[in-house]
Amino acid sequence: MPGVPNVVLNNGVEVPQLGFGVFLVPPEQVVEAVRTAIGAGYRLIDTAAAYGNEEGVGQAVRQSGVPRDDVFVTTKVWNDDHGYDKTLKAFDRSRARLGLGVVDMYLIHWPTPARGDYLQTWQALERIYQDGDARVIGVCNFTGRHLEELLAATSVVPAVNQVELHPYLPQDDLREVHDRHGIVTEAWSPIGRGKSLLDEPVVAKVAAAHRVSPAQAVLRWHIQLGNLAIPKSVTPERIRANIDVFGFQLTPGEMASLAGLGTQPRRLGPDPDRFNG
Ligand code: NDP
Repeated sequence: MPGVPNVVLNNGVEVPQLGFGVFLVPPEQVVEAVRTAIGAGYRLIDTAAAYGNEEGVGQAVRQSGVPRDDVFVTTKVWNDDHGYDKTLKAFDRSRARLGLGVVDMYLIHWPTPARGDYLQTWQALERIYQDGDARVIGVCNFTGRHLEELLAATSVVPAVNQVELHPYLPQDDLREVHDRHGIVTEAWSPIGRGKSLLDEPVVAKVAAAHRVSPAQAVLRWHIQLGNLAIPKSVTPERIRANIDVFGFQLTPGEMASLAGLGTQPRRLGPDPDRFNG
């Protein structure tokens, strides 16, 4: 099986293009899931303070037998911990729970614009980065407007914006903003949470043409767009299949037919402008 290529971020750090998400993986299941993922070849693991499973992620990485530097672990500051001082403390707690030394990537989980403090939160991430405690910093769920505001007011450009992105929500405009500023797009819910997207006839048609599963067809679409993608699964066969997407190529027509599902964009998760929880 061909390996996962790396993407070079705006500070020169490399990250595997396909990774493993652990949202909604309960703490008692996460060690096994991450162990299976690392065994299947995943070298990017995406967790968050809010997922309540950072300890298990750290444990699985430490016990994997894979050198620490070969696994890239992301975690995120939750909304309650916004603000300069609170974010620094939240980072220390996440770092301790992971128990992996330096954190590879630290992200703001949501902008929560009603709080009005994502710039201060970002300044804390800049401090963490400048102190060498995180190799990469970035954001999640920032709209173009949030990003422009952040870029105008602070000094480090986020390396990544992790956003909801799948064929129902291709985020073309936001991807253009990212390209203009050298920000890499990372797709969450990349296979649409495993729901109706995978039953779409157009997805089935593309998948059948390559003798792959609907999830593999959609993940291949992400790879060819240049996105990072972090599908989640607790099912060993799916974990293994979801990373096996580097042995086939979608045609331009197939890429366009999948993107066509987003002609009328459809979110599965919250709207970042309204989510302030
Ligand atoms: P995904 O699009 O990754 O879908 C996960 C769902 O799809 C699970 O129910 C899984 O079931 C199922 N599934 C996995 N593989 C297959 C397959 N091959 N065929 C059919 N069904 C499949 O959704 P997520 O919302 O989990 O997003 C992925 C990751 O993105 C998260 O785990 C998290 O790390 C990150 N994320 C970040 C957010 C943010 O705000 N920054 C928000 C949401 C997610 P099963 O596990 O039972 O196999």
